[in-house]
Amino acid sequence: KPFNIAIDGPAGAGKSTVARRVAEALGFVYVDTGAMYRAVTWNCLERGCDPDEDENVAKLARQCDIRLRPGENGQEVWVNGRNVTEEIRSAEVTSNVSRIAQNREVRELLADMQRRMAAEGGVVMDGRDIGTTVLPDAPVKVFLTASPRARAERRFLELKDKRPSLTVEELEKEIAERDRMDSEREVSPLVQAPDAVRIDSTNLKLEEVIGKILELCRT
Ligand code: C5P
Repeated sequence: KPFNIAIDGPAGAGKSTVARRVAEALGFVYVDTGAMYRAVTWNCLERGCDPDEDENVAKLARQCDIRLRPGENGQEVWVNGRNVTEEIRSAEVTSNVSRIAQNREVRELLADMQRRMAAEGGVVMDGRDIGTTVLPDAPVKVFLTASPRARAERRFLELKDKRPSLTVEELEKEIAERDRMDSEREVSPLVQAPDAVRIDSTNLKLEEVIGKILELCRT
């Protein structure tokens, strides 16, 4: 059975930082599946496609060549030959991505890609449905969470240069709305897999969270 690590949880829980560091420690490949949903969303908005038009969104997604590749400043995201690493973090993409993520065909398409990326093992994958749907057989599954306030504060520190007018209160609302849509959707909603280990990082240091996950890999 391929050895992969699935890390799921709500927005701002620290999944990407933790997943990247765990991958580095093990010599594994880090796959940010949220970046793939963001890439499809960016492409859809760029092409002027209405996120509510499911058929058109799916059609555009099928024509979308998404590449995740290592760059000088971390992982780069490319769509149809264009580097969109910065663009996919915009406020506009962020506020539309959960709508696109409800699209059944988009989810099937991306989940297939993600399974192919993990087929040989050696992958740390973060997202919302990795342990439940994409890699249900992953030997290590983590559900990483933190209090809504702690998640908003962390996101605030990441975004304060890019979106200077943003307040922690606004971010907390934005995150809560995204979590609600992700948890309430019909297709592979955000939910803890029954066999996932829950880690609440509200009062933990980054190193402690990483240590716990590496410990799970040894047992
Ligand atoms: O991880 P990130 O916050 O960048 O994810 C952006 C959005 O992509 C999530 O809010 C969710 O709507 C969607 N997503 C998903 N399934 C995944 C990863 C992300 O639905 N596995």
